[in-house]
Amino acid sequence: MLPGVSPHGPHTVSAELLAAAVARARAEGSALSVHLAESDEEVRWLQDGGGPFAAVLGASPRRGGVDLLADAGALAPGTSLVHANALADAELAAVVAAGAVLVHCPGTHRFFARAGAPLTRWVRAGAVCALGTDSLASNEDLDLRRELALAARAHPELEPATLWRMATEGGAAALDLAGEVGRLAPGAWADLVAFDAPTSDRAAALDALVRERPTVRAVLIGGAPVPAA
Ligand SMILES: [Zn+2]
Repeated sequence: MLPGVSPHGPHTVSAELLAAAVARARAEGSALSVHLAESDEEVRWLQDGGGPFAAVLGASPRRGGVDLLADAGALAPGTSLVHANALADAELAAVVAAGAVLVHCPGTHRFFARAGAPLTRWVRAGAVCALGTDSLASNEDLDLRRELALAARAHPELEPATLWRMATEGGAAALDLAGEVGRLAPGAWADLVAFDAPTSDRAAALDALVRERPTVRAVLIGGAPVPAA
C-alpha cells in the first residue's frame, strides 16, 4: 500500500492547509488527490461567496479553484483532480499545461444526475485523463469495470482504446506511478489483472472489455498470482 495525500478540495480546505498538504506530499513523494469543480454551486461560492454553499462554508476566498491549487503548488504531474465538471476553458488549459491528471467518476456523475459528461472535452484539450469511483457516499459500487461501462455508454464518441487507456495508464498517472503500473512494459511492476475476452480480434475484444464488465481470470502482484478471495 502506498501513501497518498488528499486535501478534499479548495472549497473545503483553507489555502494554508492546502499548501501544507502539498508540501507534505512533495516531501514524501506521495501522490496528491484533490476534488475540484464538481458542481456549479462550488464554483460560485469560490468565486463570489454566493449560492447555497454560503450558508455552510462561511467566507469565500473569492478565487477560482484552479488558481488556489496553483498557488498551493498543486498543479503538477502526479496530482489528480477529481470531477472537474465545471472548469472554465482557461482553467482546463492551465491543468493541461501543468500535466495534472483529470479524473472522471462516471458512477458518481450518474448518482448526482449531473448534466453532460466532461471526458470528450478533456480528451480534445489534450488532458491526461483517468477514471475513478469516488467513494460509496456517492456511488453504488467501487468496481472500475462498471465505471468503464458507464463511461462507454455516456461517451459513444470515444474509442474503446481511449477509455481503456484512462483506466490503465491514466490510473497510473493519477497515482503518480506512470510507467510503473498501468501498462505491460519492461521494468514495470507486473501488477496485472487478466480478463476473459470473448474474441481474439483485438478491436472487438477491447470493445467488449470496456462495455461488459469482463470476468476476472487472474490477478498478479509483482508477477505473482494472488489467490482468489
Ligand atoms: Zn468527490
